[in-house]
Amino acid sequence: MIINERFKAPPLVGLSFCYDKFMQTIARTRSQELFKRAKELMPGGVNSPVRAFKSIGIDPIFIKSAKGAYLFDEDGNKYIDFVGSWGPMILGHADPDIEAAIIAAARSGTSFGAPTALENQMAEEVIKLVPSIEMVRFVNSGTEAVMAAIRLARAFTKRDKIIKFTGCYHGHCDALLVSAGSGVATLGLPDSPGVTKETAKDTLVVKFNDQEALKKVFEKHSSEIAAIITEPIIGNSGFIKAQNGFLELCRELCNEHQSLLIFDEVMTGFRVALGGAQELFGIKADITTLGKVIGGGLPVGAYGGSQEIMSMVAPAGPMYQAGTLSGNPLAMSAGLTCLKKIQAANFYQELEAKTKYLVEGIKAIDPANIQVDYAGGMFGYFFSPSAIDSYEAAKENVDIEKFKSTYKKLLDLGVYMAPSAFEAGFVSAAHSYEDLDKVIEAMKISL
Ligand SMILES: *Cc1c(COP(=O)(O)O)cnc(C)c1O
Repeated sequence: MIINERFKAPPLVGLSFCYDKFMQTIARTRSQELFKRAKELMPGGVNSPVRAFKSIGIDPIFIKSAKGAYLFDEDGNKYIDFVGSWGPMILGHADPDIEAAIIAAARSGTSFGAPTALENQMAEEVIKLVPSIEMVRFVNSGTEAVMAAIRLARAFTKRDKIIKFTGCYHGHCDALLVSAGSGVATLGLPDSPGVTKETAKDTLVVKFNDQEALKKVFEKHSSEIAAIITEPIIGNSGFIKAQNGFLELCRELCNEHQSLLIFDEVMTGFRVALGGAQELFGIKADITTLGKVIGGGLPVGAYGGSQEIMSMVAPAGPMYQAGTLSGNPLAMSAGLTCLKKIQAANFYQELEAKTKYLVEGIKAIDPANIQVDYAGGMFGYFFSPSAIDSYEAAKENVDIEKFKSTYKKLLDLGVYMAPSAFEAGFVSAAHSYEDLDKVIEAMKISL
């Protein structure tokens, strides 16, 4: 509501003119009251840490509803949303077909704990769309998918060690809450209290895009390495692509040493292309994890791979993994509807054209000091004079103070970006070019 009124102002002539005119303090008193109470009820007032806006240093916004590209908060403010629930909302919020599918499913019962035809249909779509998946198991979150994928890789190879890259996030399972600062591979030390050294010691951490370090770890631990797990495009340290040859090297080393390659496509799956990053780059993973978009806004995760590997999973094989609500009919209905809709002709071309338009608009504001990149409906922008190819580079070069101050202004102008300098953003099919123009204009003002 507020942004629309503001952006109806006459075209901007010069930045000095517009800032005062656009910048009115948006009241967020109800959000503030709710957050105060929430902090007494839930740790940090939230059920997932990044929602608390801690890295910006302001109170989070409590959302009342959402529709299409917009969020509406408890105080009646409207925001153009580029978080998209952290990835799932590729069709925009409250998509009418997904809504109808969920309602129809709910009328037939919300959970049976028994097989359904819906699960077959959903599995058929996933197997059809993701190049390396011949068989799939549904779970309830990305974290669960990753936990199972790691267990599966260990069961299949009868080895213990996992290689992960710095800056990649794979959910909150113990074995992967590990990273190491330096570029040299080190035995992982736990990042979070509660993760034991014993658990962490089987996680080898290597700097993303560091081919030499990766080769060295394989030389040293060759026959102990069960798998490499990686985000094929990092979306959890901002948006960072693999450099030419890096994913190929991962594939080659895994082939050479009989280790498995796990692509964590929880974020990139159905997001950067219909078949995920593996389709984009033409590299086959042995195990793929999925989440976010696959559930159409409901809690769904999945992992899959070849028939041979997936046949290890119980009850076909000995690797145990289960779930009371896995394959839930509401979640399958939402996910299936979403997967059908993203197969529309030109869906990804149109989505990527919008994403490109947005990031090029942002880049043009200050080309020397803003780095942007994108794939499909996923993008990132860093306030940095140099290109970013790793989490380490991001930590070193990104102007976090500039990010914070810009972020607050953007929010006041009705633009809801991820509240951290190290998170990717998401464009949905519901965003219009008019929305994108507003955001570019707001970014100009904020900077
Ligand atoms: C979000 C994410 C996860 C965790 O998924 P949840 O559904 O939050 O448990 C794992 N891996 C990647 C790459 C992610 O982006």
